[in-house]
Amino acid sequence: MPALDASLTQKIDLLTQKHLRRDLVTTRRGADAAAKRDEKSLISFSCNDYLGLSQHPDLIAAAHKAIDIYGVGAGASRLVSGNHPLYDALEESLADYKYTQRALAFGSGYLACLGSIPALVGSGDLIIADKLIHACMLDAARLSGATIMRFAHNNTSHANMLLEANRHEHHNCLLLTETVFSMDGDCAPLDELRTLCDRFDAWLMTDDAHGLGVLPRARSVADIQMGTLSKAAGSYGGYVAGSGALIDHLINSARSLIFSTALPPATVAASHAAITYMTNNPDKVAKPLEKAQYFTKIMGMPNATSAIVPLILEENEKALRAAQELKDAGFLVAAIRPPTVPHNKARLRFAFSAMHSNEQIEALVSCLKNKGITCALPL
Ligand SMILES: *Cc1c(COP(=O)(O)O)cnc(C)c1O
Repeated sequence: MPALDASLTQKIDLLTQKHLRRDLVTTRRGADAAAKRDEKSLISFSCNDYLGLSQHPDLIAAAHKAIDIYGVGAGASRLVSGNHPLYDALEESLADYKYTQRALAFGSGYLACLGSIPALVGSGDLIIADKLIHACMLDAARLSGATIMRFAHNNTSHANMLLEANRHEHHNCLLLTETVFSMDGDCAPLDELRTLCDRFDAWLMTDDAHGLGVLPRARSVADIQMGTLSKAAGSYGGYVAGSGALIDHLINSARSLIFSTALPPATVAASHAAITYMTNNPDKVAKPLEKAQYFTKIMGMPNATSAIVPLILEENEKALRAAQELKDAGFLVAAIRPPTVPHNKARLRFAFSAMHSNEQIEALVSCLKNKGITCALPL
């Protein structure tokens, strides 16, 4: 075996031993929260398509039309010649939906973070970040070269302590958190964090990947709001929303925007149709949370605060076994393991969508109860 392959095989074998190996599984998603894996039809509780918009006729029609007019590729980065006319419509609708002066679309949510955080802070600056922020914020923070300090999850007094001890030794300061935490489904105490940021002259940045299209539309207290167009918006791409000065600066400094090709026209058109749909259908936007709350109610769990509900089982093997049992019974539920979540915090993660019927949720709960799949920890 060549040396490279021998070395990599050893690494993979180690993962297999720890029940941490991952594989790609072909999944064919349909409308109505249905998914097919290995020719087995499943009801999916593992999609971020919270409003079913990835299959919505409005988005499909907008994408078709964009292809007919503009073709399939943007041809260059946005600053060169890839800034096709659909970007304006998308960014105006996003800024309007977010009640901000402007918005800027990126290639993905990951790229929005990777471009914007290093454009805002660097060496000599301080980043204060929630312990559970998403990998893309953490990677961007590391790339920026700023000093990074983490506060215990949603613990404002710990953030306060870190700021008191360290803020004065740094030039600019950025506080990072999420509106809805992606693996826990809880929400950040944004008003408290805003007060803290004002007291310490820090900028507040939120990752709204699981909030857009799920939490009610509202003006944010954050200075910088990043998010994705690939979850409730059903399409693909990322964005930052905020002031005109912020967006002007990012256009001139965010390397993931400057040095990467613009999004395909069809994708931008579909995202625009999605934001229009959210604007016009606040009753639909409320559905994923209602469905999650129906689940927690009949499970006897604390009331859901977002469309995401974790059932923490601790051991990796236990989470994998539970996911397999659910699959055998016709439900697709992801087993989430480290490094996505902390060691010994493996879990089932349920994501609820407007497309789930109450009957599907009841069937899921019966299955969980029959198989004795319950939390290892009080949530
Ligand atoms: C999915 C996700 C992202 C990344 O968005 P993409 O558009 O998929 O790159 C960022 N943050 C959180 C919390 C996410 O869940």
